[in-house]
Amino acid sequence: MLLALPPVALQAQSKTTYDRAILGGTVMDPATGLNAVRNLGIQAGRIAAVTTDAIRGRDTIAARGLVVAPGFIDVHAHGQTAETYRFQALDGVTSSFELELGTADVAAWYAARAAGQRINYGVSIGHIKVRMAALRDSGMVMPVGPGAYQVATAADVGEITRRLQAGLDAGAVSVGAGFTYTPAATHDELLAVFRVAARSKAPVHVHIRNGEAGLTEALDLARASGAPLHVVHINSAGNAATPAMLAMITEARRTGMDVSTEAYPYTAGMTEIQSATVQDLYRTATDSTLAEIEWPRTGERMNRERFMKYSAVGGPVVLYRNTEPMVTAAIASPLAMIGSDAYWQDGTGHPRTTGTFSRVLGRYAREQHALSLMEALRKMTFMPAQRLEARVPAMRRKGRLAPGADADITIFDPATVRDQSTYREPTLPPVGIAYVLVNGVPVVARGQAVEGVTPGRAIRAPHGRQ
Ligand SMILES: [Zn+2]
Repeated sequence: MLLALPPVALQAQSKTTYDRAILGGTVMDPATGLNAVRNLGIQAGRIAAVTTDAIRGRDTIAARGLVVAPGFIDVHAHGQTAETYRFQALDGVTSSFELELGTADVAAWYAARAAGQRINYGVSIGHIKVRMAALRDSGMVMPVGPGAYQVATAADVGEITRRLQAGLDAGAVSVGAGFTYTPAATHDELLAVFRVAARSKAPVHVHIRNGEAGLTEALDLARASGAPLHVVHINSAGNAATPAMLAMITEARRTGMDVSTEAYPYTAGMTEIQSATVQDLYRTATDSTLAEIEWPRTGERMNRERFMKYSAVGGPVVLYRNTEPMVTAAIASPLAMIGSDAYWQDGTGHPRTTGTFSRVLGRYAREQHALSLMEALRKMTFMPAQRLEARVPAMRRKGRLAPGADADITIFDPATVRDQSTYREPTLPPVGIAYVLVNGVPVVARGQAVEGVTPGRAIRAPHGRQ
């Protein structure tokens, strides 16, 4: 009734003028293998056209000479604050998931972000966090008391599985677990966790115990329960055994198991010094072994005296435990998706928070030819989307550049893209990431963060209640 134009004219116009047009870029879509110059039309937050035709948009992005890729999907990112979402957007990430630690309260986690975020976000129901709540552990991030070291009674295990199921019913993307953070959790408790996941067809994202024995334990739990298994950061769980463990995953998949993994492109890890992971590893270590631990606030390497002092204080530590060939084996493996394990809290963090995806594209694909650019993109877009889409149908519209897909798009210069962040300066943004669009809205433009935009949406499994 208030339309100035008749409906037919409106329809004709909508066919030729999109909300936004991305013109002349090299579109690389790992799902279809498309690698050619195309124009992209965006309408109502979705991709409406991928075409060689000339198209118009109310807003246009000139992408000649740049690669237009699906936005990067990070299946392993801690932090999940406005600050870390900004860091990750500058690295090309459009969907960020906390699936290892997860949360103990899925509904509250999503509610806390519902006012709007820069990028899309999602969470698991986490065994570590649930165990901390059930056993009343006082740790801030990870368990430091009964959550790590107390054996759960049958009643406790009942309470833990009840809370896990409640999280899945509330739309958790997956189940998280970290065996090294909960050393007192028995085989029976862990099997109960996997059985809850199996009933909801939810993958269990596990920080396994180190080495081949740790992977065998996780594979046995997955086989016994029928739950899909995702092994987080195979590079830091495997160290020298990384190639052997990748071969074990290949073999498990050959027998029909649903197993996936991920890696981050750095030789040093980071975690909380008070966690059981660090305390168990270094309790009896010599000074020369302790020297592989760095206190990032000062750059000091540890000896026994410093290790005791900082263990009392608490905070993240950098762990130099890996070598470049081991990391390259994981980054180049067709089995491993790219997951940052982003870690940033109280002004301290790991450079992977801001540099993971640009580092894979620049250092490993362009400079070292460890993998092709298309393969690198597949490991950060289509592969993680496929991993999550069985339980979360919304992921079928992500990780792809085809009509109908969500307009989550990362546009970068393949000749210059690289990370800049370091262990001393972990917040330096990458270079060469020109535009990042989330649901059709630029959150990075001309290499700079766009302030005051929150197009990111919750990514959540179907659930009955909020
Ligand atoms: Zn992690």
